[in-house]
Amino acid sequence: MNRDEMASRVKNERGPWDVLIIGGGATGLGTAVDASSRGYRTLLVEQHDFAKGTSSRSTKLVHGGVRYLQQGNVSLVLEALHERGILRENAPHLVHDLPFVVPNYDWWEGPFYGIGLRIYDLLAGKHGFGPSRNLSKEETIERIPTIETEGLRGGVMYYDGQFDDARLAINLAQTAAEQGATLLNYAKVTALTKEGDTVSGAVVHDEETDDEYTLRAKVVVNATGVFTDSVRHMDDPASPAIISPSQGVHIVLDKSFLPGDSAIMVPHTDDGRVLFAVPWHGCVVVGTTDTPVQDVSLEPRPLEEELEFLLVHAARYLTKDPTPADVLSAFAGLRPLVKAGNGENTAALSRDHTINISRSGLLTIAGGKWTTYRRMAEDTVDQAALVGGLEEKPCSTKSLRIHGYHDRAENFGTLEMYGDDASDIEKLIQKEPRYAERLHENSPVVAAQIVWAARHEMARCVEDALARRTRCLLLDAR
Ligand SMILES: Cc1cc2nc3c(=O)[nH]c(=O)nc-3n(C[C@H](O)[C@H](O)[C@H](O)COP(=O)(O)OP(=O)(O)OC[C@H]3O[C@@H](n4cnc5c(N)ncnc54)[C@H](O)[C@@H]3O)c2cc1C
Repeated sequence: MNRDEMASRVKNERGPWDVLIIGGGATGLGTAVDASSRGYRTLLVEQHDFAKGTSSRSTKLVHGGVRYLQQGNVSLVLEALHERGILRENAPHLVHDLPFVVPNYDWWEGPFYGIGLRIYDLLAGKHGFGPSRNLSKEETIERIPTIETEGLRGGVMYYDGQFDDARLAINLAQTAAEQGATLLNYAKVTALTKEGDTVSGAVVHDEETDDEYTLRAKVVVNATGVFTDSVRHMDDPASPAIISPSQGVHIVLDKSFLPGDSAIMVPHTDDGRVLFAVPWHGCVVVGTTDTPVQDVSLEPRPLEEELEFLLVHAARYLTKDPTPADVLSAFAGLRPLVKAGNGENTAALSRDHTINISRSGLLTIAGGKWTTYRRMAEDTVDQAALVGGLEEKPCSTKSLRIHGYHDRAENFGTLEMYGDDASDIEKLIQKEPRYAERLHENSPVVAAQIVWAARHEMARCVEDALARRTRCLLLDAR
């Protein structure tokens, strides 16, 4: 992918695009992959970098959502488990199985969570990642050597998926580009255009060159996450808000707090939240919180009380109590939760995501989660084809391999997350040995990865390279 080439395509395009997608997070990028692989002429514009918003700030789990099972929402869990399986098939370089241990401190927890997680296994069916089982106290300690042992009775182990969210976003952008889509980061939609009462395109400002384009499209898709309502207001200033943003914070700790390969899952903290401590890229990610917020921003900041909550709860389940000085990094993301009953023509295709078509034909897709991005995209493009009067074409993403896919036994070590591209990065190093140099002694990231990000992954600045092409900034901010 090359930004100059993408920008010149946008500049020189004369006819209308079939599908214009606003937003380059999980939802928009998935929609671009779906639309372009059906053969529609697709353009995606993102105001900042791909996955700059919520999509780089998740807990990094590809999961059915044990929480939804607790709430009795079986259809949602089924859909997510199904998508979890599809994603592992199509992106094995980014998604892998992870054992989770639910530590039990009360007598009833072992049987209760044991049964619940066996139902989870059953629902996964042939897409199962491994059978759950009850663990003795000794087995629990063996799996989680740093688990708090006071009052510990045992545990329940189950399997879910883990991934690298921003890397998947970049690989989705590359997949869409390979399918013929045009994708431009640092390109912001500032207004929608109309012909009569119908949305006919958008005004796009290139944040790098200051160029402005008025682009025509048969259908415009609003996939802007927590910014959904600002784009809806460009269509109709009187449209009611449909998003209730909720902030979730994670802290990152050194691996010594959770050595080994298993994660901890606490299904119910005393205020009813789910808490995870997950090994990720050689560190431990602990999260998350759920704080309703009024204002949305691309740089949400963790609140003191959220950091405090995470430290207190981590200390409750770990022998070594983390202090503020142990926090290597903290990041906040905003959940684009959809308000119930907004009084409009809302087609709720699943409890988890919502597609809304305004009177003037603006298609908004909101809600959902990373795990179900493919299904959300399929539903969106089905509807977009109707709104835009496009020739009906079937979705093919269930078996579409994501850029980087490889099925070789070869392991590329710290470059494994690049999949098939890893060998090209290694070739870069062979040609230019100084690219083997590490960025910092505490990080395995080498210069070649930054060169690769700039040349092939449309990274435009240091932050793009350190926060989303590699994950240095999230792993150790200092
Ligand atoms: C704390 C937390 C933890 C989570 N953990 C998980 C998890 O473990 N597993 C899971 O499956 N899901 C998880 N999720 C959910 C998942 O991350 C989100 O559902 C998903 O990332 C939302 O993607 P999106 O594309 O809708 O929004 P975003 O990623 O926010 O993308 C929207 C994009 O639109 C762009 N945009 C906005 N306005 C404009 C404009 N005018 N012009 C151009 N571009 C614009 C923004 O810059 C942004 O990049 C988590 C969410 C949170 C908050």
